[in-house]
Amino acid sequence: MKKFILFFLGFISLFAFTSCSFLEEDSSSENTHTHSFSDSWTYDYDCHYHECECGEKIDASEHDYGEYYTTENDYARKCKICGYVDYLNLNLLYDNDTSSYIVQGVINKDVKKIEVPTEFNGHEISKIKSGAFSGCKLEKIILPFVGDKKHIETDTNQYPFGYVFGTSKSGISQQYYAGTSAGTYLTQKYGIPSTLTNVVIGDIDYLQYGAFIECKYIKNIKINHVSKIGKSAFYNCTGLESFDIPNGTIEIGSSAFKGAINIKNISIPASITKIGDDAFYNMSYVSAGRQSYFESISNLENVYYQGTLDNWSKIEFGNYHSNPMRYASNFYLLDNNGEIEYRGNNYSLSNEFYHYISIYLNNKMMHYYVCIVFLFLLTYGIMYIWENR
Ligand SMILES: [Zn+2]
Ligand SMILES: [Zn+2]
Repeated sequence: MKKFILFFLGFISLFAFTSCSFLEEDSSSENTHTHSFSDSWTYDYDCHYHECECGEKIDASEHDYGEYYTTENDYARKCKICGYVDYLNLNLLYDNDTSSYIVQGVINKDVKKIEVPTEFNGHEISKIKSGAFSGCKLEKIILPFVGDKKHIETDTNQYPFGYVFGTSKSGISQQYYAGTSAGTYLTQKYGIPSTLTNVVIGDIDYLQYGAFIECKYIKNIKINHVSKIGKSAFYNCTGLESFDIPNGTIEIGSSAFKGAINIKNISIPASITKIGDDAFYNMSYVSAGRQSYFESISNLENVYYQGTLDNWSKIEFGNYHSNPMRYASNFYLLDNNGEIEYRGNNYSLSNEFYHYISIYLNNKMMHYYVCIVFLFLLTYGIMYIWENR
């Protein structure tokens, strides 16, 4: 008993000590410092801002570039506000047949950000060669499309995101893609840099099958416009924490976000009419002792929908794993200003039948109930046969 009391007191004092040291640290940083922001601009490759020596930033906004001009062996553009110089850093080849440019490679592989513009000198950039960005240790990339060029759904050779990084031995992402004949899927290891966490894709109509499959390091993917998201497009993107499906997207393919277990927030536009089978499937088969059951491993919490409840009920869901409300706890309807108009939960928003099944799959106790009911029916049946023999 004594030992127990000592242990209990020790535990309490340890708790008190940790919570106090946390509070002290918090209050000291608030009291001693008044921010003093520099008059001149500080900048990174995205933004300019005024900075205090403590690291606090104000007035941050994206660079406002002028036109490209020629430099010694490259092209550059300057921010009109802070003077930051952004080099194009691309080896472009003009293709006479298509009157457009092909990206063949980069001039400097040490940069942290690459932007491939939609057009240059009034001509479209229509293609990027395989391995054009091989060996670059990027943090951010801005591309007009995914893979080698813009795609439609029926195209063969729908290369995924990794295509432009080539298949060098540093390959870290195994990606699948639609091969030479329709319906054949191939596998390739691409050298996508592990430092790359930010991806921006321009205006495309179709996002390829498995476009970002197995891209585990990417935290943010922004697509400016896409009508249809292909099957397994973000399959196993375990680094993704949130995703905004762009306005104008009509359809999401099956298994599109399967395995993207760390997405916490997802925003869905009113334009969505169809979400394919298992689009949000994130279940794991658990075996514990004599029990085995499926358990949700999704971290999805919030679904932000930009349409009306009536619109939501008209979405064609492939199965119950295609409805994100199968996993999320909060449903928000946004009004035209992006403000939250209504908040609900999955009980009111999942299809009742599917919801029942999902509770069953998720609840190990349910196995016992089913066993008890089954045993009861069996006993009753045997008694019935016995009495009427
Ligand atoms: Zn400060
Ligand atoms: Zn700037």
